[in-house]
Amino acid sequence: MSEQKELAGAVKTDAGVMVNGVSIQPIVEQCNGCERVRVFEEQSYCSSYPVPARKWTLGQCNFATHIAKEKGTQAKVNPLKASKRAAKGKK
Ligand code: SF4
Repeated sequence: MSEQKELAGAVKTDAGVMVNGVSIQPIVEQCNGCERVRVFEEQSYCSSYPVPARKWTLGQCNFATHIAKEKGTQAKVNPLKASKRAAKGKK
């Protein structure tokens, strides 16, 4: 297991944990393994987003370092051009 980094600039207040005047929330389960996770007082937080749960509500967090990006793995095919290529016998 890698060494966990401390959350810089974090302070504990009555409202919770704050960084630069912004209230932050602990990470969610999907964040485990991400390099942006930081530790403060035995709790894990995200160094990029104050509310990690919100980053996962519409799918994958776009800043996650532990998830392989699926975008761009499949080439888009224009059906019109593909049919012309097939008619010419080209690939
Ligand atoms: S960058 Fe995304 S996945 Fe990583 S800790 Fe922050 S919210 Fe979680």
